[in-house]
Amino acid sequence: MRSCPLAPPGRPDVRDFTYVLADDVASAGSLVHNDAVARAVQTPDDVAYVAGGTTQYDLMRDGVWSPGTLVDISRLPLADIEVSDDLLVVGAAVTMADLARHPSVVDLDVLRDSLLLAASPQLRTMATVGGNVLQRTRCRYFRDPTVTQCNKRVPGSGCAAVEGTARTHAVLGVDAGCIAVHASDLAVALVALDARVRTHGPHGGRTISVTQLHVRADEDPARDNTLVAGELITHLEIPLPDARSGYLKVRDRASYEFALTSAAVVARVEDGVLAHVAIGLGGVGSVPWRATRAEEVLRGQRASLALFEEAAAAELADAFTVPGTAFKPELARRTLVRQLRDVTEVTA
Ligand code: SF4
Repeated sequence: MRSCPLAPPGRPDVRDFTYVLADDVASAGSLVHNDAVARAVQTPDDVAYVAGGTTQYDLMRDGVWSPGTLVDISRLPLADIEVSDDLLVVGAAVTMADLARHPSVVDLDVLRDSLLLAASPQLRTMATVGGNVLQRTRCRYFRDPTVTQCNKRVPGSGCAAVEGTARTHAVLGVDAGCIAVHASDLAVALVALDARVRTHGPHGGRTISVTQLHVRADEDPARDNTLVAGELITHLEIPLPDARSGYLKVRDRASYEFALTSAAVVARVEDGVLAHVAIGLGGVGSVPWRATRAEEVLRGQRASLALFEEAAAAELADAFTVPGTAFKPELARRTLVRQLRDVTEVTA
């Protein structure tokens, strides 16, 4: 473990911080956990992990986040990809670009496209898969420290987005307290693949379903995930499905843009019947959204466009909208129906 204090040059408004290069998982975890215990808080950000840094450095530059110590975990031995039978085990420090070109991923459409349709080639070369699933919201009000109303930054202060520009915000798992969207494409594919994360924390290791990793904004806008202080994602476990799959991303421009809506579908049709179906929705949820209502409508039923329409309508039935997001439920319904049709090749 090596460390040095850093003073950002020319930015007297940015707090000095200490940079620590971690040599092993256990000591990196202890450093973050012990800081949290000392300050008796559950989700510390005074000492924090950093790997690719594509989210954290933005937040620091914007003046939204000022950690006292960054623990760089990019040199930890977490950059391997292993395949055993029907399971892909991906180190958390694997970059998005490296995962996308792995032989087991190039033919897994939903995973490959969720990676290649995200960000830019430069960012995909820097960003790690562990950091991607834990990325913070892109809400412009959250990322502007001059905005005083933001329950995610300052609990109890309100939400500027509800009456502001909200085109890219969420309609599921939200209420008037926070409508921030979870921006990861990869995490949407992971929930449709029933993926899990392995972690190393102060109480040892555990495995968490990706559907249980994030916290909905309508439950606690100030908390992004269910990890405890010092808990580090070490690997992703991704089951390789015996099914067809696909990822459809709808956005305002063709590249380097977040989703307005997206749908990750994994499905297998046997004798015209949906024997397996799993769906993730992106661009619409405060968490990577597992479309369980739609799946209940579809599972075991004869595949048809009418059934797809019914399933999509059921999933969006309780959408919470503000003027800026009023178009989203209909767009999300159409996105899901289109992707169900494409993956199953059912057209009538
Ligand atoms: Fe803050 Fe959430 Fe409102 Fe954005 S949507 S301003 S993150 S409370």
